[in-house]
Amino acid sequence: MRYASHGRTDRGRVRPHNEDDILVAPEDGVFAVADGMGGHAAGEVASRTAIQALRDALCGTRDESLPAGELLRRANLEIARSIETHPEYRGMGTTIVVAMLEPDGGCAIAHVGDSRAYLVRDDAIRQLTTDHSFVNELVRLGMLSREQAARDPRRNVVTRALGSAQVVVPDVVEIRLEPGDVLLLCSDGLNTMLGDDEILAHVVAAGRDPAAMSERLVAAANDAGGEDNVSVVAIACEGDVDPAAVRRTAPNRTLGPGTGGE
Ligand code: CA
Repeated sequence: MRYASHGRTDRGRVRPHNEDDILVAPEDGVFAVADGMGGHAAGEVASRTAIQALRDALCGTRDESLPAGELLRRANLEIARSIETHPEYRGMGTTIVVAMLEPDGGCAIAHVGDSRAYLVRDDAIRQLTTDHSFVNELVRLGMLSREQAARDPRRNVVTRALGSAQVVVPDVVEIRLEPGDVLLLCSDGLNTMLGDDEILAHVVAAGRDPAAMSERLVAAANDAGGEDNVSVVAIACEGDVDPAAVRRTAPNRTLGPGTGGE
């Protein structure tokens, strides 16, 4: 299986900083979105610490025996270490979703919190992850409808995050990707601004181009209000039929004006 990929993270229209971070490492087949939280800029520290921990664990030569859940446990330890040496960061944390792709189409997705993975197959969209969030618990218990949850003011309260506990319990799902599939990773700044049907429409309209998918989705979230930082990583599964048609694009970070850069 060949994959074309592209990622975009953006401050949005309202928040002063971008506390999201992304990883696009096609050479390792590893992709991630992290959404940090915590006062005094600690949210940015948390998401970047988690993404850097993934980079360090991969080091350009992926250890095949390193499962996706273990990657997140390492990221959790790095955040805990950072809090130990910087007490002002106490309380910081980050959600994260990571996808590890194999050449044969095997794909493991691990997540903690409300960052999501979606699969678009045959012009239908399916959420692969289950939000670890307060409102999703209420939906599960039948106390809120999905529509009510989408508008509930407590919708960004997560029930699991990296950095919030010594032991982190990621959910891991394994799927087999097929040629034509699109895998999307996103922070909640996308899915709180756009419904699943709108996300699907933008993916379909972007053709087979993952750069067009992530650019369109980020722009659409901003057009809808851009109330939160928004991050999208799009991975298009190409099969092996026409290697010349496969384009791999470098990750593209976008920071809004006045955020002070990296
Ligand atoms: Ca967010």
